[in-house]
Amino acid sequence: MPLCWLISEEGNHKPIQLPHLQTVVLGRGPETTIKDKKCSRQQVELKAECNKGYVKVKQLGLNPTSVDSVVVGKDSEVKIKPGQHLHIVNQLYPYTVQFKEDPTGSQSGTKRQRESTSEDRESQRDAQSMKTDKQTERISVSVSHADSPKTNENAGHWSQGLKTSMQDPKMQVYKDDKVVVIKDKYPKARHHWLVLPWQSIPSLKALRTEHCDLVKHMQKVADQMIQQRPDCSSVQFRTGYHAIPSMSHVHLHVISQDFDSPCLKNKKHWNSFTTDYFIDSKDVIQMLETDGKVTVKEGTSELLKLPLRCHVCRKELPTIPALKEHLKSHF
Ligand code: AMP
Repeated sequence: MPLCWLISEEGNHKPIQLPHLQTVVLGRGPETTIKDKKCSRQQVELKAECNKGYVKVKQLGLNPTSVDSVVVGKDSEVKIKPGQHLHIVNQLYPYTVQFKEDPTGSQSGTKRQRESTSEDRESQRDAQSMKTDKQTERISVSVSHADSPKTNENAGHWSQGLKTSMQDPKMQVYKDDKVVVIKDKYPKARHHWLVLPWQSIPSLKALRTEHCDLVKHMQKVADQMIQQRPDCSSVQFRTGYHAIPSMSHVHLHVISQDFDSPCLKNKKHWNSFTTDYFIDSKDVIQMLETDGKVTVKEGTSELLKLPLRCHVCRKELPTIPALKEHLKSHF
């Protein structure tokens, strides 16, 4: 039976496992990191039905809990499925649920092992070709990192994968005393790297004024990566962050705009890099300088559902294969 996970879309904490048919009560508290007094300590009761692929959500607190913007109502219960959005209270604190096959074959969840996602399987197929990527030979500086996240910290869940990859010399293409650059394991374009700070910062939401210099350094390193790319093509690059990242540990995407990659498979992938879901690094720096934090607009997750549109000429295409065919006319 699959395992069920409750995922904070804002990356505020690691995923919470919802064991099959066991009630889990969540609200304000350290587990969710919610400090908002409008959220009861016992705001929602969740019960996963792993064999059926949904979670029952019961609102216990007075203020509204909602699923896809529809209020559950005190003591009422609704079902949430993958792809739907749960807001714990007052349309805030967005969560999704995910069901993943239990690699141990048991439902206990005590032996959490790395879960096999479709991207994992895809990466195994692609591993051989990735090994030939000359970028692995890029110069790296050996440094010690007292501040670096521990390799095994939460390593069992797929959303923690970047923490493992950033420590893996085979993935690293550059490092200095502040940041490491790794190849994206499922690149969505011919060139796709991630710049990560050694400092443990869970997500964009956690960035504050004091991180400004670090974020500027991440941008500088990203620019160097672009300048030193192995081919001399004139392809454009963008550097930025997903507004609602799926992976824990803040990471700056450095991605060429050809989007020529077999790993780019669906609308969510496309829209995450070609709509305002992708926040340019310079805008993040500006927000930090002016507001001391990064604000993600309400409704940003909806951008992933927009029709497929070419990022060069804005033509709308019906399917990913049609879009990829169309992109050939530009690149
Ligand atoms: P996001 O969290 O949406 O900003 O994107 C996370 C990125 O990390 C995606 O582009 C994935 O292809 C990539 N990715 C996922 N797992 C790994 C991993 N274990 N190592 C390196 N890159 C990964």
